[in-house]
Amino acid sequence: MMTPLALSLFFFFGIASGAVPFNYTNQIAWNSLFGSFCSGGRQSPIDIITRNVQGGNSTLTPLRMTNWDTSVNGYVLNNGHTLKFSPSSASSEARVQTFISTYKLLQFHFHWGPNNMVGSENKVNNTFFSGELHFVNQNVSAVNSVGSQFTVVAVFLTADSSVQYSGSVWEKLTESIPAFNATRSIQSITYESMLPSNLSYYYFPGSLTTPLCNEIVEWFVLQNPVSVPMEFFNKLRTLNDTNGDPLTLNYRDVQPLNGRTVSGYTVESVSGSIGLMSTTTALLAFLLIAVLANY
Ligand SMILES: [Zn+2]
Repeated sequence: MMTPLALSLFFFFGIASGAVPFNYTNQIAWNSLFGSFCSGGRQSPIDIITRNVQGGNSTLTPLRMTNWDTSVNGYVLNNGHTLKFSPSSASSEARVQTFISTYKLLQFHFHWGPNNMVGSENKVNNTFFSGELHFVNQNVSAVNSVGSQFTVVAVFLTADSSVQYSGSVWEKLTESIPAFNATRSIQSITYESMLPSNLSYYYFPGSLTTPLCNEIVEWFVLQNPVSVPMEFFNKLRTLNDTNGDPLTLNYRDVQPLNGRTVSGYTVESVSGSIGLMSTTTALLAFLLIAVLANY
């Protein structure tokens, strides 16, 4: 029997090193890994059924990003389960403020499938996207709830043949894929270049999507997908897993909601209501001046 200290050290290093052995072909086996939370009650990913999404604009707040538009250097690692970017320690710290707390960006990584019809972890109305990008952020405050330790900002990716690979951030990340356990340095990217322009999101409490599936993550899944070049996914599929085989699939199957609520926060688009509002305001001001002039 492990002591509580030994147990927490095991969890910590298990998460930090990704040392727990697992594969995507037998996900049921994740449940019986030692110390696994994979069969818990707030697991990720989920299928987001839009007609059940609760309106959240009175309780949730916009995602406030700091330094996401600042150029960063770093490296990508092939850890055998994904391609993961980590910023260099010299890079300015990027943060995201949510309605829960403020989080610093630790890393981002990707999920994909054997073809462009599948590959995202979360689904919307039982429909996949071609892939999913996870920005993993750690709470900078003293954590009052273990469930709020991390925030993932998730971006759905859609493979689009009309999007140019050459010169894009997607090319910088994947122009050559490191061997298993190897890294490659990356210069001058911005996180913002991988976000949709509209940051409307779905929110729900959940977990890590790899073992040990710890239930320590608040999920913010952006509603609008980003179009990425076909070559990006073709490159990701050449990544070699822990056995040296091409990793063509690294998404976890969707998990039961178990009574959780998914809420939505909608950002009005600038070209829509805000633009209309200012036109209306200008018109009212004009009419008021006209009325006053005649009075
Ligand atoms: Zn992920």
